[in-house]
Amino acid sequence: MSTGGAILVVEDEPAIQELVAFACGNAGFAVRRAGDARSARAEVQRELPDLVVLDWMLPDRSGIDLLRELRGAERTRALPVIMLTARGAEADRVTGLDAGADDYVVKPFSPRELVSRVRAVFRRRAPQLSGEALEYGPLKIDPVRHEATVDGQPVKMGLAEFKLLRFLVGHPERVFSRAQLLDSVWGDHVFIEERTVDVHMLRLRKALAPAGARDLVQTVRGLGYRLSMRGEG
Ligand code: CA
Repeated sequence: MSTGGAILVVEDEPAIQELVAFACGNAGFAVRRAGDARSARAEVQRELPDLVVLDWMLPDRSGIDLLRELRGAERTRALPVIMLTARGAEADRVTGLDAGADDYVVKPFSPRELVSRVRAVFRRRAPQLSGEALEYGPLKIDPVRHEATVDGQPVKMGLAEFKLLRFLVGHPERVFSRAQLLDSVWGDHVFIEERTVDVHMLRLRKALAPAGARDLVQTVRGLGYRLSMRGEG
């Protein structure tokens, strides 16, 4: 089972596509692949990935062109993208970053370097998907074991509650609306009523109650929810 986010690898050279897919899969990420810009668009359309590793030189369009298109659309504006290219020149690096790339990896690269860049981008943009352990106060999320603990003691909960908690531990002290939580935890293309969030929050707090951590998950009246060690807001 993957422990990190879903990565779309867009690369036409089979050996490099395989290398990237293997390295990311090995690191615990769920991997999807595309060999050109057209199928990359179709993949993104079908289901939004959590991060894209995008080659600069694709057979049908340039990766940079596709990146600009992703940045221009509401649905993909914030999608993390790492550009992959043989071009190492300063000017190209600037072009890539200007177009909205989150990072830039120059070929040839080691699988290890790529994975560490992927993790770094996730840490910055979506820590709950980095595949790394997350901690906040007595709470700890172990992505490998798919387990949440309070003061080292495992807490049993359903998958939706686990994903909610994982997201909150990745973004403590911040208030999220129900709509934001639906987008971030359940993903887009999913049509669930906002009320459903309340149901899962209730279950999550119930699961945390025996460990004395119930009050870490707080309702912020009129706004949504947050994870905090301070008193209820
Ligand atoms: Ca290429």
